[in-house]
Amino acid sequence: MTPEVLAAIGFALFGLCIGSFLNVVIHRLPRGTSVVTPPSRCPTCNYLLRWSDNVPVLSWVFLRGRCRKCGTPISIRYPIVEILTMLMFLLHLWVFGWSALMVVRVVFATALIALFAIDLEHQLLPNAITLPGIVVGLIASLVLPPGIVDAILGTLLGYGILWAIAAAYHRYAGHEGMGGGDLKMLAMIGAFLGWKLVVVTLVLGSVSGSLIGVLVIAIKRGDRKYALPFGTFLALGALAASLVGDRILAWYLGMYDF
Ligand SMILES: [Zn+2]
Repeated sequence: MTPEVLAAIGFALFGLCIGSFLNVVIHRLPRGTSVVTPPSRCPTCNYLLRWSDNVPVLSWVFLRGRCRKCGTPISIRYPIVEILTMLMFLLHLWVFGWSALMVVRVVFATALIALFAIDLEHQLLPNAITLPGIVVGLIASLVLPPGIVDAILGTLLGYGILWAIAAAYHRYAGHEGMGGGDLKMLAMIGAFLGWKLVVVTLVLGSVSGSLIGVLVIAIKRGDRKYALPFGTFLALGALAASLVGDRILAWYLGMYDF
């Protein structure tokens, strides 16, 4: 095995562990409990999880998705988040190679996975992720793409554009259509990716949101009240923008053959 392959495997395993930590964040952050202490317990029988119950993916498989003590089912979300995070790490390594930008974009993607899962389950985008995210994105942009000017413009555009849409919607519909979390999330995306990719994120997020929305309405036979959380689509759009946004832009502007 070459050192490159070994390094990639190590990075993938690290991704699994981060995925495991993300599960804790996704479960605890919306409930307002600390993500560091106390150690995890079974919510049904209060059994204190040992290290061997916490091995990513493997524990879930060997326990066949149940608590060791009382047999309460453990959500399949846990191994799914771990595997998705690992794949996301490998995808970033493939796209960016070993570089400082890759590390920053992996941090960004990790935050997006947490926001995606929490918004999907709770219709909530915690400030505890978006606000530090804005700061980290701006600091990284001091020395890395897109550069600090683009990043500041991206933060302002991200917040401003959704603020304007939300204000217009409020005036037209008479009630809130978008939470403040969406505004801060797109500001964070702007801080990491710059203003151009904020536009790409919005387009990709809206298109995927519309497609999936139509699909859900078709499946649920016209139940239009089913609200799909916008943050989940922003997360998908931002991930795509982070990985291939520059190429989409270049293609759109006619400078690059796909
Ligand atoms: Zn239990």
